[in-house]
Amino acid sequence: MSAVVTSTPEPAGLIAALDIGGTKIAGALVDRQGTVLHRVQRLTPAQEPGEAVLLTIHQVLGRLSAVPRWQQVRALGIGCAGPVDIARGTVSPVNIPGWRDFPLVARVAADPAVAGLPVVLGGDGVAMAAGERWRGAARDAVSALCLVVSTGVGAGLVLDGAVHPGPSGNAGHLGHLSVDLDGEPCPCGSRGCLEMLASGTAIARQALRSGWQPAARGGAADAAAVAESARQGDSLALAAYDRAARALAAGIAATATLLDLRLAVVGGGVAQAGELLLAPLRRHLHTYAALPYVHPVEVRRTGLGPDAGLIGAAALTVS
Ligand SMILES: [Zn+2]
Repeated sequence: MSAVVTSTPEPAGLIAALDIGGTKIAGALVDRQGTVLHRVQRLTPAQEPGEAVLLTIHQVLGRLSAVPRWQQVRALGIGCAGPVDIARGTVSPVNIPGWRDFPLVARVAADPAVAGLPVVLGGDGVAMAAGERWRGAARDAVSALCLVVSTGVGAGLVLDGAVHPGPSGNAGHLGHLSVDLDGEPCPCGSRGCLEMLASGTAIARQALRSGWQPAARGGAADAAAVAESARQGDSLALAAYDRAARALAAGIAATATLLDLRLAVVGGGVAQAGELLLAPLRRHLHTYAALPYVHPVEVRRTGLGPDAGLIGAAALTVS
């Protein structure tokens, strides 16, 4: 047994992470290997005033900072639904209307538990890219597009071996790239945005419009319920997933063609449907990623599991 240490020791201490989305707000303590040690989660009061959303974050931080190992925390990473402005430390998530140019970094830094810690903000898509690059499915990739398909659709880029947030922190914000010129108006102000076709919300909306009926027993009409019907062979539910996959394929192909990418990593709640989403996505990529240098674009599932958002938020502080 050799006692020679050949690798550089990692910095000590834990990282606190906040993953803020339109449906839930999660917080965690994460170690330097990217393992989530403690996690806390609350529903996002997304339709309430901005201060109510902030109160939920203080509650999450209150629970986390009550854990004795909080004393080992050396930094806080925040992955937030976009758009964000990392230069100013503000956020304006499309799905949280009470937050417009909301000074999230300053307000979180003022929490007594956080005082003195460095706080790093990133868009949720950029955070996911940081996490996949750090400990996930893009670990060996020079370049990749990493997507969060959830209540909305976010994405981030790894380019030439590094996460590329762009000056404002929104680079790769694929959800608001239009893939349908005459499509439905989007809350962002554009129309036909990828998010309007491929988010979990859009999948459920499309299924209901086509006449799909939720399973009688539960009655939930969300993307997970559509997935359950699709697994049982319901053609309307399958069509809703296929439409979402097709929109994602168009967006991934456009990005891959633009930036010369070979890899897309897909995570987020909707991606938990697994092959139900990924199989049609790969099939449609054969159509849309037509040029030889992007054909085929490889599609991988997130390597970080359901905690990808938290691990990504933590990764923002180490990249
Ligand atoms: Zn939009």
